[in-house]
Amino acid sequence: MTTEMKVDRSVFDDVMVPCYSPMEFVPVEGKGSRVWDQEGKEYIDFAGGIAVSCLGHCHPAMVEALTEQSKKLWHLSNVMTNEPALRLASKLVEHTFAEKVFFANSGAEANEAALKLARRYAADVYGAEKTEILAFVQGFHGRTFFTVTVGGQTSYSDGFGPKPADVTHIPYNDIDALKAHLSDNTCAVMMEPLQGEGGIVSPDPEFVQQVRQLCDEHNALLIFDEVQTGNGRTGDLYAYQGLGVTPDILSTAKSLGAGFPIGAMLTTTAIASHFKVGVHGSTYGGNPLGCAVANAALDIITQPETLAGIKEREVLFKAGLERLNQKYHIFSDIRGKGLLVGAELNEAWQGRARDILVAAGKHGLMLLVAGANVVRLTPSLVIPEQDIEEGLARLDKAIATLV
Ligand SMILES: *Cc1c(COP(=O)(O)O)cnc(C)c1O
Repeated sequence: MTTEMKVDRSVFDDVMVPCYSPMEFVPVEGKGSRVWDQEGKEYIDFAGGIAVSCLGHCHPAMVEALTEQSKKLWHLSNVMTNEPALRLASKLVEHTFAEKVFFANSGAEANEAALKLARRYAADVYGAEKTEILAFVQGFHGRTFFTVTVGGQTSYSDGFGPKPADVTHIPYNDIDALKAHLSDNTCAVMMEPLQGEGGIVSPDPEFVQQVRQLCDEHNALLIFDEVQTGNGRTGDLYAYQGLGVTPDILSTAKSLGAGFPIGAMLTTTAIASHFKVGVHGSTYGGNPLGCAVANAALDIITQPETLAGIKEREVLFKAGLERLNQKYHIFSDIRGKGLLVGAELNEAWQGRARDILVAAGKHGLMLLVAGANVVRLTPSLVIPEQDIEEGLARLDKAIATLV
């Protein structure tokens, strides 16, 4: 037996690439929606690993799926297919509009596949001129160079040299801008059916309908990035199902693996046929281990009780935030859908979302932000009611130290 090296937060600054600024504590263990750090201090988890740990930490069904598969087969490559991948793809097809599935390992990779497929489809069917990707200001689609360029924050995409070309950004929910820009040169529209990183912004129902209609009129594909909104997060299995607008391509990741890295791109048979053998691929994509875990997660998420429970918890969270707002007058808006909840800070509290996150950490609560002015909650979809109450009580104490 080797003894494990002793490490703490200071090691991060010594040996890690400094593109993150992690909090001062180092979590070592989690169960459900509670997490413990190196000092044994307990936290309530309202962050859910950024909309990933959708069944909490170490859910027994997930531990079992991972353990069982880990004794059978971990990896093959795409030279062979495997049972967990075939089962997972079949379930995704059964529960969505999609007829075909491509597996990746992350949201960015699922989106990269979606964008490349849209470009290839347009080139094959309509010719080389149809390349424009229409996307939205404040949108977020991942950090590969194509996806970050399609994302609507230039601070994330500038400074890396020439960008993938013919990407246009328009304001979200702006029907006039949409009509002005969508044309026969548009290859695809990529959008989140509720902007997550951009500040928890819901789409206007007429806006999404317009996007679908204009895409149809101009033979452009509609890509929904459901990396954050998917797998029950908004109360429907996928957010498009609650909007009544069906995309041509859908990307999913985050909660799909409930804490194990996996992503997927879903589409129709007709569109998928343009990814012929050798056109795209991934070494780890669709590996047995990730797919076995995602299968177990999806089985739980798709249960009607799980989906109904998300809407019940949404009510508890929003009511709790309202109560805090009555006491401290700090939010101008409490919004979002399902367990993708945002609370926007008012004038007096501008720029202080991170202060609240840090104060919450000190009081044993894990939170998220979406920009400088929005406190974001993306907890487990099955977080127990008593953890919601306890977490809100800790948030109350944390805010009290800031007023
Ligand atoms: C998190 C996120 C991504 C990127 O996913 P990664 O797994 O980090 O690559 C893409 N799109 C949306 C909407 C996201 O929230």
